[in-house]
Amino acid sequence: MKDERNEAIEALMQLHSQILECRRCPLWKTRTNAVPGEGRLDAKIMFVGEGPGNQEDRQGRPFVGPAGRFLNELLGIAGLRREDVFITNVLKCRPPDPLNPEKVRKPTTDEVEACRDYLIAQIALIKPKVICLLGDTALKVLLDRSMSISKVHAHPFVKSGIVYVPLYHPAAALHKESLKDVLKQDMLKLREIIDMVMQAETDATHVGIEKQATSI
Ligand code: SF4
Repeated sequence: MKDERNEAIEALMQLHSQILECRRCPLWKTRTNAVPGEGRLDAKIMFVGEGPGNQEDRQGRPFVGPAGRFLNELLGIAGLRREDVFITNVLKCRPPDPLNPEKVRKPTTDEVEACRDYLIAQIALIKPKVICLLGDTALKVLLDRSMSISKVHAHPFVKSGIVYVPLYHPAAALHKESLKDVLKQDMLKLREIIDMVMQAETDATHVGIEKQATSI
Protein backbone atom coordinates (compact mmCIF):
# COMPACT_ATOMS: atom_id res chain seq x y z
CA MET A 1 0.00 0.00 0.00
CA LYS A 2 2.83 2.33 0.97
CA ASP A 3 4.72 1.44 -2.24
CA GLU A 4 1.56 2.13 -4.27
CA ARG A 5 1.27 5.56 -2.62
CA ASN A 6 4.94 6.34 -3.23
CA GLU A 7 4.58 5.33 -6.88
CA ALA A 8 1.54 7.61 -7.26
CA ILE A 9 3.44 10.53 -5.70
CA GLU A 10 6.38 9.93 -8.03
CA ALA A 11 4.04 9.76 -11.06
CA LEU A 12 2.41 12.99 -9.93
CA MET A 13 5.75 14.76 -9.68
CA GLN A 14 6.62 13.55 -13.19
CA LEU A 15 3.25 14.80 -14.43
CA HIS A 16 3.92 18.21 -12.89
CA SER A 17 7.34 18.37 -14.60
CA GLN A 18 5.57 17.57 -17.87
CA ILE A 19 3.06 20.39 -17.27
CA LEU A 20 5.89 22.87 -16.66
CA GLU A 21 7.26 22.08 -20.16
CA CYS A 22 3.90 21.61 -21.90
CA ARG A 23 3.25 23.09 -25.35
CA ARG A 24 -0.04 21.36 -26.15
CA CYS A 25 -1.91 24.63 -26.64
CA PRO A 26 -0.74 28.14 -27.60
CA LEU A 27 -0.85 29.41 -23.99
CA TRP A 28 2.76 28.24 -23.46
CA LYS A 29 3.85 31.22 -25.58
CA THR A 30 2.46 33.83 -23.21
CA ARG A 31 2.98 32.17 -19.83
CA THR A 32 5.78 33.05 -17.40
CA ASN A 33 5.20 29.81 -15.48
CA ALA A 34 2.80 26.93 -15.85
CA VAL A 35 0.94 26.27 -12.59
CA PRO A 36 0.42 22.53 -11.96
CA GLY A 37 -1.02 23.00 -8.47
CA GLU A 38 0.17 22.56 -4.91
CA GLY A 39 -0.65 20.91 -1.61
CA ARG A 40 -0.69 17.38 -0.24
CA LEU A 41 -0.05 14.85 -2.98
CA ASP A 42 -2.33 12.38 -1.15
CA ALA A 43 -4.97 14.94 -0.09
CA LYS A 44 -8.50 13.78 0.68
CA ILE A 45 -9.88 17.17 -0.33
CA MET A 46 -9.08 18.87 -3.64
CA PHE A 47 -10.03 22.34 -4.90
CA VAL A 48 -10.23 23.04 -8.64
CA GLY A 49 -10.48 26.58 -10.00
CA GLU A 50 -10.48 27.92 -13.55
CA GLY A 51 -6.95 29.04 -14.44
CA PRO A 52 -3.95 31.05 -13.20
CA GLY A 53 -4.12 34.84 -12.93
CA ASN A 54 -1.25 37.35 -13.06
CA GLN A 55 0.31 36.59 -9.70
CA GLU A 56 -0.11 32.85 -10.14
CA ASP A 57 1.62 33.09 -13.53
CA ARG A 58 4.52 35.04 -12.00
CA GLN A 59 4.96 32.77 -8.98
CA GLY A 60 4.01 29.42 -10.56
CA ARG A 61 1.61 28.77 -7.66
CA PRO A 62 -2.21 28.54 -7.64
CA PHE A 63 -4.46 31.00 -5.80
CA VAL A 64 -1.81 33.40 -4.49
CA GLY A 65 -3.48 36.67 -5.60
CA PRO A 66 -6.48 38.43 -4.02
CA ALA A 67 -8.80 35.49 -4.79
CA GLY A 68 -6.25 33.19 -3.18
CA ARG A 69 -6.19 35.26 0.00
CA PHE A 70 -9.97 35.01 0.15
CA LEU A 71 -9.74 31.25 -0.49
CA ASN A 72 -7.38 30.94 2.50
CA GLU A 73 -9.99 32.69 4.66
CA LEU A 74 -12.70 30.36 3.32
CA LEU A 75 -10.58 27.28 4.03
CA GLY A 76 -10.30 28.45 7.63
CA ILE A 77 -14.11 28.68 7.89
CA ALA A 78 -14.34 25.05 6.75
CA GLY A 79 -11.68 24.07 9.29
CA LEU A 80 -9.18 23.24 6.56
CA ARG A 81 -5.53 24.19 6.23
CA ARG A 82 -4.09 24.98 2.84
CA GLU A 83 -1.25 22.51 3.35
CA ASP A 84 -3.70 19.65 3.96
CA VAL A 85 -5.62 20.00 0.68
CA PHE A 86 -4.55 20.01 -2.98
CA ILE A 87 -5.32 23.14 -5.01
CA THR A 88 -5.21 23.33 -8.80
CA ASN A 89 -7.05 24.69 -11.86
CA VAL A 90 -8.66 23.29 -14.99
CA LEU A 91 -6.16 25.28 -17.07
CA LYS A 92 -2.51 25.22 -16.02
CA CYS A 93 -1.39 28.34 -17.97
CA ARG A 94 -2.74 31.89 -17.77
CA PRO A 95 -5.13 32.83 -20.61
CA PRO A 96 -4.39 36.52 -21.37
CA ASP A 97 -7.16 38.80 -22.65
CA PRO A 98 -6.12 39.80 -26.23
CA LEU A 99 -7.56 43.29 -25.74
CA ASN A 100 -5.78 43.82 -22.42
CA PRO A 101 -2.95 41.33 -21.79
CA GLU A 102 -2.80 42.42 -18.13
CA LYS A 103 -6.21 40.80 -17.68
CA VAL A 104 -7.28 37.19 -18.04
CA ARG A 105 -10.15 35.84 -20.14
CA LYS A 106 -12.29 32.70 -19.97
CA PRO A 107 -10.51 29.60 -21.30
CA THR A 108 -11.54 28.48 -24.80
CA THR A 109 -12.99 25.01 -25.41
CA ASP A 110 -9.81 24.00 -27.27
CA GLU A 111 -7.59 25.10 -24.37
CA VAL A 112 -9.73 23.19 -21.87
CA GLU A 113 -9.66 20.10 -24.09
CA ALA A 114 -5.87 20.34 -24.48
CA CYS A 115 -5.31 20.66 -20.72
CA ARG A 116 -8.08 18.42 -19.37
CA ASP A 117 -6.04 15.18 -19.30
CA TYR A 118 -3.63 16.70 -16.77
CA LEU A 119 -6.46 17.37 -14.33
CA ILE A 120 -7.94 13.90 -14.84
CA ALA A 121 -4.50 12.36 -14.23
CA GLN A 122 -4.03 14.46 -11.07
CA ILE A 123 -7.38 13.24 -9.72
CA ALA A 124 -6.53 9.60 -10.56
CA LEU A 125 -3.17 9.83 -8.75
CA ILE A 126 -4.20 11.92 -5.73
CA LYS A 127 -7.46 9.95 -5.24
CA PRO A 128 -9.36 12.64 -3.30
CA LYS A 129 -12.62 11.79 -1.53
CA VAL A 130 -14.08 15.28 -2.06
CA ILE A 131 -13.49 17.66 -4.98
CA CYS A 132 -14.61 21.28 -4.56
CA LEU A 133 -15.41 22.83 -7.94
CA LEU A 134 -14.67 26.55 -7.78
CA GLY A 135 -16.82 28.22 -10.44
CA ASP A 136 -18.63 27.27 -13.62
CA THR A 137 -15.60 26.13 -15.65
CA ALA A 138 -14.57 23.44 -13.15
CA LEU A 139 -18.24 22.47 -12.68
CA LYS A 140 -18.81 21.98 -16.39
CA VAL A 141 -15.52 20.19 -17.06
CA LEU A 142 -15.71 17.70 -14.19
CA LEU A 143 -19.41 17.25 -13.48
CA ASP A 144 -22.02 18.35 -16.00
CA ARG A 145 -21.99 20.83 -18.87
CA SER A 146 -25.63 21.79 -18.33
CA MET A 147 -25.26 22.76 -14.64
CA SER A 148 -24.98 26.31 -13.39
CA ILE A 149 -23.14 27.18 -10.19
CA SER A 150 -25.95 29.51 -9.06
CA LYS A 151 -28.35 26.52 -8.99
CA VAL A 152 -26.15 23.83 -7.46
CA HIS A 153 -23.63 25.56 -5.17
CA ALA A 154 -22.93 23.68 -1.92
CA HIS A 155 -24.96 20.67 -3.08
CA PRO A 156 -23.02 17.38 -3.03
CA PHE A 157 -22.96 15.11 -6.08
CA VAL A 158 -21.50 11.62 -6.15
CA LYS A 159 -19.81 10.47 -9.35
CA SER A 160 -17.53 7.43 -9.65
CA GLY A 161 -17.09 7.24 -5.88
CA ILE A 162 -15.99 10.89 -5.49
CA VAL A 163 -18.14 13.55 -3.81
CA TYR A 164 -18.16 16.77 -5.84
CA VAL A 165 -19.18 20.05 -4.21
CA PRO A 166 -19.71 23.04 -6.55
CA LEU A 167 -18.89 26.42 -5.00
CA TYR A 168 -18.69 29.96 -6.34
CA HIS A 169 -15.20 30.96 -7.44
CA PRO A 170 -13.61 33.23 -4.78
CA ALA A 171 -12.80 35.78 -7.52
CA ALA A 172 -16.53 36.10 -8.30
CA ALA A 173 -17.13 37.16 -4.70
CA LEU A 174 -14.44 39.85 -5.00
CA HIS A 175 -16.47 41.39 -7.83
CA LYS A 176 -19.87 40.89 -6.19
CA GLU A 177 -19.93 41.61 -2.47
CA SER A 178 -23.15 39.66 -1.77
CA LEU A 179 -21.48 36.42 -2.88
CA LYS A 180 -18.96 36.67 -0.03
CA ASP A 181 -21.58 35.73 2.55
CA VAL A 182 -22.97 33.01 0.30
CA LEU A 183 -19.50 31.50 -0.01
CA LYS A 184 -18.88 31.73 3.73
CA GLN A 185 -22.17 29.92 4.44
CA ASP A 186 -21.32 27.34 1.78
CA MET A 187 -18.00 26.61 3.51
CA LEU A 188 -19.92 25.64 6.65
CA LYS A 189 -22.02 23.26 4.53
CA LEU A 190 -18.81 21.95 2.96
CA ARG A 191 -17.50 21.16 6.46
CA GLU A 192 -20.65 19.11 7.17
CA ILE A 193 -20.28 17.26 3.86
CA ILE A 194 -16.60 16.50 4.56
CA ASP A 195 -17.49 15.19 8.03
CA MET A 196 -20.16 12.92 6.52
CA VAL A 197 -17.77 11.61 3.87
CA MET A 198 -15.05 10.89 6.45
CA GLN A 199 -17.61 9.24 8.74
CA ALA A 200 -18.87 7.10 5.86
CA GLU A 201 -15.28 6.02 5.25
CA THR A 202 -14.77 4.87 8.82
CA ASP A 203 -18.11 3.17 9.52
CA ALA A 204 -18.81 2.13 5.88
CA THR A 205 -22.54 2.97 6.22
CA HIS A 206 -22.52 5.84 3.63
CA VAL A 207 -25.97 6.72 5.01
CA GLY A 208 -25.47 10.42 5.81
CA ILE A 209 -23.89 11.47 2.54
CA GLU A 210 -26.05 9.21 0.35
CA LYS A 211 -29.20 10.80 1.75
CA GLN A 212 -27.99 14.26 0.84
CA ALA A 213 -26.03 13.76 -2.34
CA THR A 214 -27.28 13.42 -5.91
CA SER A 215 -25.72 10.51 -7.78
CA ILE A 216 -24.56 11.16 -11.33
S1 SF4 B 1 -2.69 25.44 -20.72
FE1 SF4 B 1 -2.38 23.23 -20.38
S2 SF4 B 1 -2.35 22.37 -22.45
FE2 SF4 B 1 -2.01 24.58 -22.67
S3 SF4 B 1 0.23 24.79 -22.68
FE3 SF4 B 1 -0.48 25.07 -20.56
S4 SF4 B 1 -0.30 23.06 -19.61
FE4 SF4 B 1 -0.23 22.76 -21.84
